[in-house]
Amino acid sequence: MSTFQAPKGTYDLTPPRSATFLAVREAIAAPLRDSGYGYIETPGFENVELFARGVGESTDIVTKEMYTLTTKGGSQLALRPEGTASVLRAALEANLHKAGNLPVKLWYSGSYYRYERPQAGRYRHFSQVGAEAIGTEDPVLDAELIILADQAYRSLGLRQFRILLNSLGDKECRPVYREALQTFLRDLDLDEETRRRIEINPLRVLDDKRADVQKQLTDAPKLRDYLCDACKAYHEEVRALLTAAGVVFEDDEKLVRGLDYYTRTTFEFVHDGLGAQSAVGGGGRYDGLSEMIGGPELPSVGWALGVDRTVLALEAEGIELDLPATTSVYAVPLGEEARRALFGVVTGLRRAGIAADFAFGGRGLKGAMKSANRSGARYALVAGERDLAEGVVQLKDMESGEQSAVPLSEVEAELAKRLG
Ligand code: ATP
Ligand code: MG
Repeated sequence: MSTFQAPKGTYDLTPPRSATFLAVREAIAAPLRDSGYGYIETPGFENVELFARGVGESTDIVTKEMYTLTTKGGSQLALRPEGTASVLRAALEANLHKAGNLPVKLWYSGSYYRYERPQAGRYRHFSQVGAEAIGTEDPVLDAELIILADQAYRSLGLRQFRILLNSLGDKECRPVYREALQTFLRDLDLDEETRRRIEINPLRVLDDKRADVQKQLTDAPKLRDYLCDACKAYHEEVRALLTAAGVVFEDDEKLVRGLDYYTRTTFEFVHDGLGAQSAVGGGGRYDGLSEMIGGPELPSVGWALGVDRTVLALEAEGIELDLPATTSVYAVPLGEEARRALFGVVTGLRRAGIAADFAFGGRGLKGAMKSANRSGARYALVAGERDLAEGVVQLKDMESGEQSAVPLSEVEAELAKRLG
């Protein structure tokens, strides 16, 4: 160990576990790519105001979880705590919404930062893959996104996850509900911080994880009873589309999201094997966000799935992803001359698109063959002085153990043939 360690609340991704992370990112991205979502990448930091306004001043993220910094030039920046505000900002800046091609469908993958109390499944640096569909109000779009997330999780083999669904209403009906909820909450026995929350973001109180709080919320007014007709119809359509697609979901009247900007469709993917940090992903509609950050009216919907927690979910279900070995051929030279010759072969194989690795450091046959085994390579190439004198290398099938001499000039073609 060096004298340094990864900062509190962070961890390093190292082989072999890091391969699972890459595969999870890929599995989440694949259905999006196949459904017309284009890749977007934005900076790791933004003007702090983008999040303070967009994410909402009253959210936990803005009040206590954001990493902020002042640059030498005096700008106030924040490490991005989430993706939606940045992606929308970037889409507006690039005028993607003006190309007459709405919705603008985008996906992203990256690191996010929140100054949280570190615990299992909750880190200060974590990874998300997300998707946003900007500029269209259409229940089919909400359904599409939920279906694609479901498809991604199923493709990983996950089964113990549930989809929680709710509607948060719109700018017509939500304020009425908000007031009714505040009136109800003010009469409860709650601590100071929660009381403050009643005034700035009362819906968030419904999301309180503490049992003594939840007990008092049984008779809280339900948003469902306050939804306007347009919101009700929209929500019923989303539900019907999901059902038609065979996606199982649970109506969860208490579901709200940590961010202020959500309207109408709201959902969360929870996994039952993760204990307290059970949310593996979440999202919903954010029809007012564009205007909040100074853009035009662009009703949008999106989600973000947590890569870290998805990997934990795989581990909780005992799922080992079927990751193909990255190395197909492993070369083991015996002696100085063989080293040069075989390294030439390896370089040629790599250029021909065959994944190959090499026993570096002039190790003996036994240790080198162990490395060949560990690499998962399907074939080993072994050559010593005598082989070279005959112009051949020994090609060993690591599965069957069969070995045969192949002329040096034919190795590449032979391997290409065998590996298909
Ligand atoms: P939680 O209620 O657990 O705090 P959240 O509502 O803050 O989650 P979102 O902002 O919706 O989470 O982020 C989407 C996903 O990103 C979460 O479902 C989770 O998988 C992941 N995520 C969020 N915060 C963290 C974190 N601190 N560490 C690891 N993953 C996280
Ligand atoms: Mg959170």
